[in-house]
Amino acid sequence: MRRFEGQTAVLTGADRGIGLAIATRFVEEGASVALASNRPEVHEAAAALESLIEEQSLPGRVMAVRLDVTSAEEVNAFYAGVIERFGRIDISVQNAGIITIAPLEELSEEAWRRVLDVNTTGVFLCCKAALHYMKSAGHGRLINMASGQARQGFIYTPHYAASKFGVLGLTQSLAREFASAGITVNAICPGIVETDMWQYNDHHWGQLLGDYGPGELIREWVAGVPMKRAAQPREIAGTAAFLASRDADYITGQAINVDGGLIMS
Ligand code: NAD
Repeated sequence: MRRFEGQTAVLTGADRGIGLAIATRFVEEGASVALASNRPEVHEAAAALESLIEEQSLPGRVMAVRLDVTSAEEVNAFYAGVIERFGRIDISVQNAGIITIAPLEELSEEAWRRVLDVNTTGVFLCCKAALHYMKSAGHGRLINMASGQARQGFIYTPHYAASKFGVLGLTQSLAREFASAGITVNAICPGIVETDMWQYNDHHWGQLLGDYGPGELIREWVAGVPMKRAAQPREIAGTAAFLASRDADYITGQAINVDGGLIMS
């Protein structure tokens, strides 16, 4: 199915993990994609998607920019560059995020501010830049990556939980402001997803919570998931594609848990 043929999707944190899986899904469904990340690997990710387009004779095109989502200047230049290159922005996925794990006594003000800056202010800056173009187009889809930690705070991550609760507040507020402008704003709350971020979590939470070996903590937590498994990034991508599609025309201001039943609220 090519639900997004002729459309442009912008994605942050798109060089690996969940962001790259979502970009791949949009490309497979016919969209052009603009990838942004703070890592140089964003250009390799773009090259891989260009190969996919060629192999499968897909209609989309790809561009990639290295930026920091906490810089308004870089974010605004990126979105302006997307308009210059592709002429439109239909979908914007605010996915870039970071986590650190520390007991409160060891959690520095700097770490607190950086996590909120990337995870919440970065989402605000990208939504604002995207809305600048979507408002005049009279349509658009904003998808913000939250977390199960936007529903429940976990131990040793008060800054991450605060940043993701913030994403839900931002999502609901923008959804109300732009509901009559043809723009929907929704969030996704993944549970445990097999990415580099989760490798980091396994190691650092594992060290603080007990003497866990590599992979042991994730196995214990996965055992508490009703579906008894972690998610693959492509399963988050499926939800993003749904929210960006016409099937989600009447959905705004929502946060969808994609977590195998871990949190049911
Ligand atoms: P990841 O670490 O594999 O990818 C994060 C991406 O964000 C990378 O491409 C990284 O380069 C980019 N990034 C980080 N800081 C940035 C910055 N300042 N500017 C631009 N790009 C930046 O992580 P992931 O697991 O794919 O997570 C993606 C999103 O999903 C994050 O928002 C994360 O909080 C959220 N999430 C992940 C899980 C999980 O279990 N993996 C669970 C819930 C929520």
